[in-house]
Amino acid sequence: MTLTMGVDLGSITAKCVLLQDGCRVLADCVVKGGMIGDGAQKAVTEALHRAGAALTDIAYTVATGYGRVIFAGANEEMSEIGCHGKGAYFQEPEARTVIDIGGQDAKVIRLGAGGRVSNFAMNEKCAAGTGRFLEVMAQALSHPVAELARLGSQATGKVSISSTCTVFAESEVISSLAAGCPVADIVAGIHESIARRIAGLAYRVGPEEKILVTGGVAQNRGVVSALAEKLGCELLVPQFAQTNGALGAALYAFEKFRLAADHVD
Ligand code: ADP
Repeated sequence: MTLTMGVDLGSITAKCVLLQDGCRVLADCVVKGGMIGDGAQKAVTEALHRAGAALTDIAYTVATGYGRVIFAGANEEMSEIGCHGKGAYFQEPEARTVIDIGGQDAKVIRLGAGGRVSNFAMNEKCAAGTGRFLEVMAQALSHPVAELARLGSQATGKVSISSTCTVFAESEVISSLAAGCPVADIVAGIHESIARRIAGLAYRVGPEEKILVTGGVAQNRGVVSALAEKLGCELLVPQFAQTNGALGAALYAFEKFRLAADHVD
């Protein structure tokens, strides 16, 4: 049995996936606290605990994500785009597009034959259309970010949030609250705003079905259904949505280990 590990160190969360023989996920774990603090170490410890394994059992570790260079425990680092593509292809071999909406950035990746990345577009400059945008708006509404989907599902209308800039959009949300707009309708407007931004990014690469949505924001059904409406097709949220990049890293780790072992033989 060969165990490999993928660690995805993001801006908001650290993710770890333990993989058995390149085909079975033994544990996946998300810990709050990305690059700052000991999030990565906690995610690794928790994933090992869940799998009943020790660090010495791990044959190879690949790190990915925004903060991958500061994670000391990896044999190798890989790009986020490659890892997300690999994880998505493993979870859904018919996936042709991956839309990853993380805390600090959003990316749309086109996959060709065998899950190879053929094109991608990324928004890493601006918080609009990312989890950070959701967090700022949730705070303005005094609700946890995990509550937004439920709140938005009660909407009977949609408050238009027209500013792309997160700071201006936050002012719009506060003004709408002060004007007595229902919170649910404001939340629906927030979801719509993110969907509009992500759809624009997706059209830059030409989205092709099947489309997977990954990253922490994939947990918000309101954003996913607003995006499905904008793109005019069904979107799949895979089982390992937030840990998709870490899964891809663990898959790469398995390939790398096999390659090294073949070299020795
Ligand atoms: P990163 O890899 O950049 O650290 P993630 O892919 O882990 O980011 O996504 C983090 C984002 O996911 C947060 O900013 C937050 O907006 C969103 N998020 C986390 N948990 C939930 C949840 N339960 N429901 C909706 N959104 C969530």
